[in-house]
Amino acid sequence: MEKLKLYNTLSRKKEEFKPIKGKTVGYYTCGPTVYDYAHIGNLRTYIFEDVLKRVLVYNDYKVKHIENITDVGHLVSDADDGEDKMMRALKREGLKPDAKSLLKLAQQYAKAFKEDIKKLNISEPDKWTKATDHVKEMIKLIKQNEKNGYTYETKDGLYFDTSKLKDYGKLAGLSKVSLKAGSRVSMGDKKNPTDFVLWIKAVGENKDHVMVWDSPWGRGFPGWHIECSAMSMKYLGEHFDIHCGGIDHIPVHHTNEIAQNEGATKKKSVNFWCHGEFLVMDKKRMGKSAGNFITLQTLIDKGYNPLAYRYLNLQTHYRQKLSFSWEAVEAAQNALEKLWATVAEYDKPKVGCAEYEEVFFKAVNDDLNIPKALGIVWDLVKDKELPGHAKMQSFLKFDKILGLGLDKVKKEKIPESIIKLAKDREKARADKAWDKADKLRQQVETKGYIIEDTKTGFEIKKR
Ligand SMILES: [Zn+2]
Repeated sequence: MEKLKLYNTLSRKKEEFKPIKGKTVGYYTCGPTVYDYAHIGNLRTYIFEDVLKRVLVYNDYKVKHIENITDVGHLVSDADDGEDKMMRALKREGLKPDAKSLLKLAQQYAKAFKEDIKKLNISEPDKWTKATDHVKEMIKLIKQNEKNGYTYETKDGLYFDTSKLKDYGKLAGLSKVSLKAGSRVSMGDKKNPTDFVLWIKAVGENKDHVMVWDSPWGRGFPGWHIECSAMSMKYLGEHFDIHCGGIDHIPVHHTNEIAQNEGATKKKSVNFWCHGEFLVMDKKRMGKSAGNFITLQTLIDKGYNPLAYRYLNLQTHYRQKLSFSWEAVEAAQNALEKLWATVAEYDKPKVGCAEYEEVFFKAVNDDLNIPKALGIVWDLVKDKELPGHAKMQSFLKFDKILGLGLDKVKKEKIPESIIKLAKDREKARADKAWDKADKLRQQVETKGYIIEDTKTGFEIKKR
């Protein structure tokens, strides 16, 4: 079998994937910030990560998957608008600015997120880890960084000194000066623009922050990046296999995760960094402020099956921008319905089509070339030589990766009387009684079915 190759953002090339230890893969995916619904651009990343996980399983690896839920207000805003997500949400929902309202809100949107991914046939992680449950671990990790000399304290917080880390910014492949500063909040006492906050003190403008904890640096709350570092290393170990997220995480969030991990452990923390490209609409990245915020529910309300959105995603490689349009969703839905209808006609799975399976999995293992794999699916549909039961067997295998619900498509039962007519026709043909055979065929057709002759016999389909 073709070996699995993945594009590693860290090395900027495709590399053969090998787990650190045995057959188990430590897999961490950055989860949602739960103060609003996810938009379909966010969901694109989770579809990519789901496909990658399925491909790992297909390659006989056991995947240990951890995903965080950001339920702490971090004073980190969307890249494209200036307001803190937490404050914006409380205001929007007309809630009291206190920890209780915030946790309730987080629970509500975490539930909505889980419903969304379920509809998209995305499997849940082995463990969801909530930031608010791991503040102790974050403090411990910050202390390790402090002990190793990577931090400095100011009047408003504790910072990571990026000038102390020789190769800071290696993930983004950028020099320190060109990297964006880690936070929009004005932190006047930073030594270097790329320095980022590990712990924010509840003083000054953050005096009334609604979620605070005690720490060696005073009462306050953690910076955003430390949560993923603390939770990934707690559950997957100090050195683990794959860390995923959207490409927007490369220059700041993941760059700073690496800094904190290596600052604490003084060794490499993650082997593969894999990133999914953006969904764009009218050439703009989807986001609240861009005014093109579409949720999965919007698609459902317009009559689209969530799996049609999944299909649309599979048509574009995860490292390429996906341009969203209503025409494209419409076309994806039509294609998917056609595929379902075709599969519904196939007989019970048997044998499989080895040649097609080989090229399919070759494409899949080549850095998840799913668009190519989808093309192979349609080639197999169109193949006139192979019987339906063999195609069905292969499609069930393919669907372990595609996740398009092909395993749930129900074949409509062909009535016994029709099968008998078809068998009689088969016999008439064998006896060269062509007129009789033709009459039997017509009888079948008037009852709403058609007979297709194949190499191995015949197939009956609904007209
Ligand atoms: Zn993260």
